[in-house]
Amino acid sequence: MAIPRKTRRSIDCDATNQSRSVRGPSWPMLARLLATMLGAWALSSSALGLELSGPQQQGALLIGQVAPGSQVWLNEKAVRVTAAGQFAMGFGREAELEQRVRVQSPVGQTTVHNLTLSQREYDIQRIEGVPSRTVTPPQERTKRIRREAGRVREVRATDSDLTGFLAGFVWPAEGRISGVYGSQRVYNGHPGSPHYGVDIAAPRGAVVIAPASGVVTLAEPNLFYSGGTLIIDHGHGVSSTFLHLDSLLVEPGQSVKQGDRIARVGSTGRSTGPHLDWRMNWYGERVDPVTIAPPLQEGHTPPLLKTDGRK
Ligand SMILES: [Zn+2]
Repeated sequence: MAIPRKTRRSIDCDATNQSRSVRGPSWPMLARLLATMLGAWALSSSALGLELSGPQQQGALLIGQVAPGSQVWLNEKAVRVTAAGQFAMGFGREAELEQRVRVQSPVGQTTVHNLTLSQREYDIQRIEGVPSRTVTPPQERTKRIRREAGRVREVRATDSDLTGFLAGFVWPAEGRISGVYGSQRVYNGHPGSPHYGVDIAAPRGAVVIAPASGVVTLAEPNLFYSGGTLIIDHGHGVSSTFLHLDSLLVEPGQSVKQGDRIARVGSTGRSTGPHLDWRMNWYGERVDPVTIAPPLQEGHTPPLLKTDGRK
């Protein structure tokens, strides 16, 4: 679990820096003048106007800052940016290492930043000689699983202007880390689906708190695979999912603040023992909570934030 701690650095890469003049014949000169002024400002505050927080690696959730009023694209897909120029950007388990971030300043000056993510190595366990099971689940169950997966996918796609993701994250439960992001078992050469959460071993009934503020977008007491399941939207596509919960203390649509009690640890759904499985998403991308959570202490989460005692 040796993942570099939050690194904040300005990206001055092999950017192609091109001025674009827009809107009619009287504009170019003014646009160039403004671009020069803004360019000078941007260079003096942060090189080329893009600052990214977080480890630039596969599975990372990065928080970015650009000049207020700028627009941002990741690989030509528009990214939601706050009026103050802040945004989130997530990369999946197998994300391409070469990524392209395009920033357009309020006066139309475009800068392209090429990011090179570092490749992660995941914990892969190969298990041979497993008796092959050819179990066909009943049709009803297949339908249920498909319906639930569709609902979860829909909720993860939520695109709100909440800004809970900007205030930093805390660990949602206290305990030893018993499972990591990206790990995978390969049975007789057939890869199983990777594990996308970070597992925190904790007794049944232990409290789960909101790692950051947000709005509850899904609260289901009994999904087939994940049992008691909560999703909290932290804004700009960033959401947390909590699985195998024993009980839920919040309802869909409810606003929560960082540190609020939201659920109790359990072993519901397909689970082998009580633990909290915390997953993080950036829209459809599954990202590793460890890339944004506070540092672990010898494989344990730090003591829980003191809450105000509500619930
Ligand atoms: Zn898990």
